[in-house]
Amino acid sequence: MRAGLEVHQQLATGKLFCACPSELSDEVWLSFVRRLRAASGESQAVDPAAAFQAARGLAYRYEAGPTSCLVDMDEEPPHAINPAALDVALSLALLLNARPLDEIEVMRKIVVDGSNTTGFQRTALVAVDGHVTVGGKRISVPTVCLEEDAARKSGASGTEVVYRLDRLGIPLVEIATGPEIESGAEAREVAEEIGALLRATGKVRRGIGTIREDVNVSAEGGHRVEIKGVQELRKIEEYVRGEVARQEVLLTVRDELRRRGAPAVPDRAVDVTELFGSVTSGPLSAGARSNGPVLALPLVGFADLLRSPPGVEERLGRELAERARTAGLRGILHSDELPAFGVGAEQVAQLRSRLQLGSADAFVLVTHARRERAEEAVRRVAERANQAREGIPGETRDPLPDGRTRYSRPLPGRDRMYPETDVPPIVVGGPRLEALQAGLPERPAVRRQRLATQYGLSAEVARQLLAAGEADRFEALADGRHPPALVARLLTQDLPGLSLPEGVTEFEPSIEALDALLGAADRGRFAKEGVPAVLAALAAGAASLDAAIAASGLGGFSRADLEALVDRVVDRNAKLLDERGDAAFQPLMGDVMREVRGRRDGSEVAEVLRTAIARHRAAG
Ligand SMILES: [Zn+2]
Repeated sequence: MRAGLEVHQQLATGKLFCACPSELSDEVWLSFVRRLRAASGESQAVDPAAAFQAARGLAYRYEAGPTSCLVDMDEEPPHAINPAALDVALSLALLLNARPLDEIEVMRKIVVDGSNTTGFQRTALVAVDGHVTVGGKRISVPTVCLEEDAARKSGASGTEVVYRLDRLGIPLVEIATGPEIESGAEAREVAEEIGALLRATGKVRRGIGTIREDVNVSAEGGHRVEIKGVQELRKIEEYVRGEVARQEVLLTVRDELRRRGAPAVPDRAVDVTELFGSVTSGPLSAGARSNGPVLALPLVGFADLLRSPPGVEERLGRELAERARTAGLRGILHSDELPAFGVGAEQVAQLRSRLQLGSADAFVLVTHARRERAEEAVRRVAERANQAREGIPGETRDPLPDGRTRYSRPLPGRDRMYPETDVPPIVVGGPRLEALQAGLPERPAVRRQRLATQYGLSAEVARQLLAAGEADRFEALADGRHPPALVARLLTQDLPGLSLPEGVTEFEPSIEALDALLGAADRGRFAKEGVPAVLAALAAGAASLDAAIAASGLGGFSRADLEALVDRVVDRNAKLLDERGDAAFQPLMGDVMREVRGRRDGSEVAEVLRTAIARHRAAG
């Protein structure tokens, strides 16, 4: 398999074609409704994705608030391209070893889901022929683009989709890699490296949703599949693995269909409603289908290929059901899962006879209260079944929270760009590039090495700091203030690993709060290993650091308290000490640590204990 990434990162420079800030807002001042129709272009062809979407007959409601304006509403022409955003894109191009174009032309790329009031997205190719090196391997970056982000989906009801205009127009840098990635793990590493480069500019927005990745996966003999809009970097690996598994199942199905000589599937439904008069339960009962028709689609040669192979979750039956859902159905029933769902063996036998099917054949049943919907679903299922004979259809898929993906729509056609006639081209001169070159930030690879040397970190910890986007906070806290290892652990382990208390969804302590927390640990108010417990108390809403230390039960145990405790333990074990000498140190250490863990550091306890034992011997 081969994979490539498209990384989209929002910039914090203000919007791309108007004066609005790059900020989201939940305030809504007004809303309006528009519709999108598919029309043919100059070549007379209609884009397949546009036709697919227009057939759904949706209306789009747009909500505008304090960070949207007439440009975002498409009631005013776009302003000139934001020069600060273009500078960030050009700097990134230089960091990616890419060649900036002499002249930047803004283009219109059609958008079919209503997420843009114009029906297109403005996009500009900024640089070409770059590369990034990850794990010693060179990954090509054929293009760096600057484009506007789409509106943010805020709801949907029936045939109306609601979008918030605040996100529309926020600049996005789009970095596309070549298809040289060979595993899910490598995809994640490449995404991390590009993420570190983006953050190095210091001009990117931070937080969930500000960076989105499209993952393209293609297996040999299949078409490209695009998993669109992955927001969590760490899930990329899972999505790629899942997609490879899905494609493997599809290739196995294709080979078996070819072996059996399965003929083309007709997109013609057979009305079998009368066979289901006696069905009283399940989705095909007269009540559940509101007396709508039951349509059957014969699949000659498909028997046993709709269910998942042993030990695999992916199956062709699910793919067919996904297509039926795009026609507004809840799903399908297929012969590999029958008899079940209220359909008895008797109906299955009648269906097979009625459809003239043999034991190597399968069928799909669909139903909907409206006959046109059911017929459309049959057409879409038939189309997908025919694609199974070819192998892997090219398509766009949505990432799901459980690590799987779901069919979204066909891949858009290639001819969907048109010059943006409202924005003049920009000539990028040598002096501008020279100034940007002189002001380039430190590259992540260089910074990783410097962090390791300057702060005595392992290469792995330095890598984690950059991958987590914490290098800046690390340097602010570790530079002459707190022990680097403690700061690194706080930022790469304690904070990300913190399990938030019930009802708390977000915990973003300020750098001042982290500074105070580390300072308290430095001064021995609690042990360094108590940091996560105090953090948890802060996340749970402790009013102050003092309150958090008190709530965690780790504070209030002074050096004097420790010395008194150690003396008591030594006295209690005087006999053991006399008998076993130095071998008694470990059990005594264990006794003391059981009482002070999280309150005093182990190294300090060891030191106090050694002193007390020496004193005991001297006295004895
Ligand atoms: Zn605006």
